[in-house]
Amino acid sequence: MQHCTDPSTRSRPGRVGLMGGTFDPIHYGHLAAAEAVRQGFDLDTVVFIPAALPPHKQASQVTDASHRYIMTILATLSNEFFKVSPIELERRGSSYTIDTVRELRAVYGDETQLFFITGIDAILEICSWRDSGTLLTLCEFIAVTRPGYVTAGLNKLREALGESLFSRIHVFSVPALAISSSELRERVRKGKSIKYLVPEQVEGYILKNRLYLATDKKAEC
Ligand code: NAP
Repeated sequence: MQHCTDPSTRSRPGRVGLMGGTFDPIHYGHLAAAEAVRQGFDLDTVVFIPAALPPHKQASQVTDASHRYIMTILATLSNEFFKVSPIELERRGSSYTIDTVRELRAVYGDETQLFFITGIDAILEICSWRDSGTLLTLCEFIAVTRPGYVTAGLNKLREALGESLFSRIHVFSVPALAISSSELRERVRKGKSIKYLVPEQVEGYILKNRLYLATDKKAEC
């Protein structure tokens, strides 16, 4: 499988976004967020990294990683700045972000600025992530959220991390993030349309492979 993180074509150190998520399924909110962050933070590229198994989830709670990986590729094809990496799929076990960032730091070198992009709800829990202190020194974080989201949790996080590490986290608001994967799964299960909420190819893939038709175990946990 091609590792779409080859930095050999770069002529300068660069700024790289690492878009981490379960992408179950990927939707226009994720894509709009990645594009807005790319422009807002002047990133050269955004690498989507579907988690094989997010550390706080059980395998039975997430759709097979190969489906989520293929949908991510389909969704990102039309943007020349977007890439998809199988790095977490190729590693066995839980997808710890520290392992991913360490591997990619070695690939890109110390000169490249890495930004790990994901939803604010996930980042608010970062103190419970493996080696979070080291992680925050290896890359900066961009916590994407929808406008009007109450960010009271950020004050607690500032206290827990201290000012220096907390300053490595940037909050970025994206209107399209009103869409959520859990709502999309629910819509498919109830036979409702997901047209215009996900790219057409992703919609076709979900229908063809009959994904999300069974009761959503994720919502029950
Ligand atoms: P999650 O708990 O499924 O999602 C939390 C919230 O963030 C949801 O509202 C989700 O919306 C949103 N979200 C997730 N990824 C997003 C993205 N890339 N852009 C915009 N919104 C996003 O989170 P998760 O997907 O399992 O985890 C997020 C990332 O953090 C993954 O890369 C995961 O591996 C990493 N993580 C690492 C550790 C660790 O290293 N110990 C622990 C936890 C998470 P949608 O459902 O619509 O996406």
